Amino acid sequence: MPIYEYECEQCGHHFDALRSFKEADAVIECKQCHGLQTHRKLSTFYAHSGGRSVAGTDSHSCSGGCGNCSGGSCGHCSH
Ligand SMILES: [Zn+2]
Repeated sequence: MPIYEYECEQCGHHFDALRSFKEADAVIECKQCHGLQTHRKLSTFYAHSGGRSVAGTDSHSCSGGCGNCSGGSCGHCSH
């Protein structure tokens, strides 16, 4: 199960959570203030460069089954 990083918009707390790929973008409670104003950071598995992937996945689109996303590493897909 991959580890995702989250940031709380209320208190600014950063924390990690071990979640399934399906739950990656689901609402998660801040571990510090217990607020729900959190968002996932794209830092561990996916690097942005001007809004484009730098991991060699520029050419793949995630419509449909997204067969190019192995190991939950694709930031384009929420599935
Ligand atoms: Zn918080």
